[in-house]
Amino acid sequence: QKKLNPLSQNTKKSAELFERAKKVIPGGVTANIKYIAPHPIMMERGNGSKLFDVDGNEYIDYLLCYGALILGHGHPRVYEAAMNQMKDAGTTIFGTPHRLETVMAEKLISLFPGIDMVRYTNSGLEATLLAIRTAAAYTGKPKIAKFEGHYHGGYDQVLLSVNPDLDLAGVETEPNVVPESPGIPDYYRENTVILPFNDIEAAETILRDNAHEISAIIMEPVQGGFIPAEEAFMTRLREITEELGILLIFDEVKTGFRLTVGGAQNLYHIKPDLTALGKVLGGGFPVGAIGGKKEIMEISAPDGGRDILTAGAENGSKKDPLFHSGTYNGHPTVLASGLATIEVLEEQGTMDHLLANTNILRDGLEEVYKRHDIPMQTVGKGSIFNVILAEGSIKNYRDMGKADSDLRSKIDYELLKLGIYTKPLNRYSMSAVHSGEDIERTLTAHEKAIRIVQK
Ligand code: PLP
Repeated sequence: QKKLNPLSQNTKKSAELFERAKKVIPGGVTANIKYIAPHPIMMERGNGSKLFDVDGNEYIDYLLCYGALILGHGHPRVYEAAMNQMKDAGTTIFGTPHRLETVMAEKLISLFPGIDMVRYTNSGLEATLLAIRTAAAYTGKPKIAKFEGHYHGGYDQVLLSVNPDLDLAGVETEPNVVPESPGIPDYYRENTVILPFNDIEAAETILRDNAHEISAIIMEPVQGGFIPAEEAFMTRLREITEELGILLIFDEVKTGFRLTVGGAQNLYHIKPDLTALGKVLGGGFPVGAIGGKKEIMEISAPDGGRDILTAGAENGSKKDPLFHSGTYNGHPTVLASGLATIEVLEEQGTMDHLLANTNILRDGLEEVYKRHDIPMQTVGKGSIFNVILAEGSIKNYRDMGKADSDLRSKIDYELLKLGIYTKPLNRYSMSAVHSGEDIERTLTAHEKAIRIVQK
């Protein structure tokens, strides 16, 4: 058992728990991305920047629930808000409209330039799905366009060309649609157009050729949370979409609250037509939301107060409202936690400290790898970055092929043994509670990990 385990000798209980899990949960994990060979590390407790596993090992956490925990684990303000909400309300959820839904909507409208109105969902996936349906209903066009390498949740229309095998993906100007999973109906391949990221000429050609059918472009303004759209690319894309009558959907599930409190759109000074949010918005509870222009968002209003004429309704008939439902949408405990999180982020110094610490870590890591003559750059924006073992600019999914992922994976496994929690090959998310000491320990661990793998 020990010999098989590249993690460490100290994860015996994790291994046992995994064996037990595998008997009742396929592969022992409830999200495939959470699998680590030979077994995931089973966590039991969190505190601030730290995670503790079932064997009692401590880790500095840079996964932070895939970015959701921007204030780290168990932030007292977030805890208090959730507990107080349940205590004051006398229930976990009302199942009716309530005040916090409006309070949070007003907050999001004040923060995100592209948001005039808000609807809630229970995950980022549901948010992008609702944004896509909204765009289709509003424009009356059947297709969407997405960028190669961009992730928007695990459902059929967007689970295409996220991490494609390049032999299947075709040349940049004519990218093929590559499904990420068995079971995706051909319909979605036929109705999703794949665009190359940060290549405005190629993207423009594809968009012009297909404009009559494309309702919207959905994009991560910062691919994977770490490869930023170039400013000129973004500006031109907004111009082209406006000209061609294609809606622009920013998927800010990762970037919302993490680049600026008001997301990537504040940094790029771009107003998307629709925005999808998630992760940080729930303070660690499941959440999603879409926001957007009033005129577009109101097509889901069920009060019949408006005649909704879309491009697709040539006969001028009144359309039914867009279907949007969800038992737990706008969950009060979740919104209370999210609001507390946003309040802390808005306090003077929180974001500055978070961004400054992220830069200190990035600079420190670059120095460590330089000392060891390993080509490395950190790539990122705001409080998220990735460690890329390659030289030259990284502008899109295809550029990631330059990186030495074997070496990176070896280092990441050593880091796990040294108490640094990065899911191998994943990006780094920082929290506002990671300390200077955490950063020092992380740099020392990298130093040691590199020495070990270079032996
Ligand atoms: N969109 C982006 C950019 C994401 O990063 C994710 C999750 O990682 C999603 C959508 C899906 O969000 P969720 O996992 O909450 O469904």
